Amino acid sequence: MSKTTQRKAVIVGAGIAGLAAARRLSEIGWEVVVAEKAPERRGGGYLLALTGLGYQSADRMGLLAALSARALNPVEFRYANAAGRFGYCVPGDTMRAVLGQDAVILFRGDIESVLYDAIPGNVDLQFGQTVDEITQDDTGVQVTLASGGTLTADLLIAADGLHSATRRQVFGPEKGFRRDLGHMLAATTLHEPPDGIPDGTVSTFTAVGRTATIANLGPDHRAAFFDYTTNDTQSELGKTAFAALATPYEDFRTVIPDVLTQLPTSATTYFDTVSQLVIDRWTDNRVVLLGDAAWCVSLFAGYGASLALAGADQLATALDQQDIPTALRTWETKLRPETTASQRRGSRNARLHAPTNRLRLLARDLSMRATVFPPVRQLIRHQLRA
Ligand SMILES: Cc1cc2nc3c(=O)[nH]c(=O)nc-3n(C[C@H](O)[C@H](O)[C@H](O)COP(=O)(O)OP(=O)(O)OC[C@H]3O[C@@H](n4cnc5c(N)ncnc54)[C@H](O)[C@@H]3O)c2cc1C
Repeated sequence: MSKTTQRKAVIVGAGIAGLAAARRLSEIGWEVVVAEKAPERRGGGYLLALTGLGYQSADRMGLLAALSARALNPVEFRYANAAGRFGYCVPGDTMRAVLGQDAVILFRGDIESVLYDAIPGNVDLQFGQTVDEITQDDTGVQVTLASGGTLTADLLIAADGLHSATRRQVFGPEKGFRRDLGHMLAATTLHEPPDGIPDGTVSTFTAVGRTATIANLGPDHRAAFFDYTTNDTQSELGKTAFAALATPYEDFRTVIPDVLTQLPTSATTYFDTVSQLVIDRWTDNRVVLLGDAAWCVSLFAGYGASLALAGADQLATALDQQDIPTALRTWETKLRPETTASQRRGSRNARLHAPTNRLRLLARDLSMRATVFPPVRQLIRHQLRA
């Protein structure tokens, strides 16, 4: 499509979705401003697998080499009960075979770093910045920045995550769209190697309704994730992560007490409900939702980062080929079946992460142990992606 004037986008949020969109839009000739609320680049994160569409987009965007250079290769995934007794281990090679060839295991923050390094110098990335007011019609959008200036653009991309303030301003209150899965999640980076967790391993401690996973994968790659079920997510949210975790994990006798003491001084701790975001349209005129702000599939789907990357890549591809309203429609029509399927998978997998009864715990353990058999690996891979 021939363009006579340069188009401009304002992107709210510099997570995986926002940074990937900035890179791709700039690549197709758009002027891009990114407003990120955090005062500086966020680090840390948790261990995840970039797979499927996300892997394909990373490849298309020329990022695979940089991502692979930061890939982590745990030698062993170990499984224990609350008392700290290890029942079985899954070798790292087996877990990689479960994920398939087209997968990179790495920390979330490392994906952001790779994207950040790939942003061209002409992208105006503003930290400590957000959008306070939005007015729009069907030809463009005007935003007032928190710093006081105003910007006029062809498109405003809300990539500000599950609790998107941009979405609230344009589409309505979050409670109309958020679906809580009855779990709480805390994820934290660890500055000290945890006692009792060998280097190169990922160890999961599980009791009914509660799980804690400790990744000890070298300096800057040590993290803990806690996932527990609750009937009252609102009251849990009113607590600090440190206070909230004390009761569900009080009977976890080894490793976890030591890890919990690191929580108050950790550089980054994430504490939130495990939720999905279900909204019937991602576009309102010249405002479009992207990533978790549009379709959060939850950590249980194991696909949110992949979809954030792929969603941004596909959005830019559509905008390069069509006028803005048509591109937004085409993009949503193509991507929505993927996000819906992924949300279904996320709801289904919740019971594997913090199994809610002994039978489910047993079923999880049996299927993890059975990954030594190639046909079972294939079945699990199919379940993870179906
Ligand atoms: C423990 C855990 C494990 C996971 N495992 C996997 C996995 O294996 N595979 C996978 O693909 N995905 C996984 N995910 C999901 C994945 O991390 C997310 O879905 C993905 O990172 C979403 O990216 P995003 O850019 O849409 O949102 P976010 O990462 O939430 O980024 C939003 C950005 O917007 C900024 N922001 C927020 N509000 C404002 C505002 N008002 N103004 C300006 N900026 C703002 C934030 O500071 C942030 O930088 C996991 C998630 C968790 C929690």
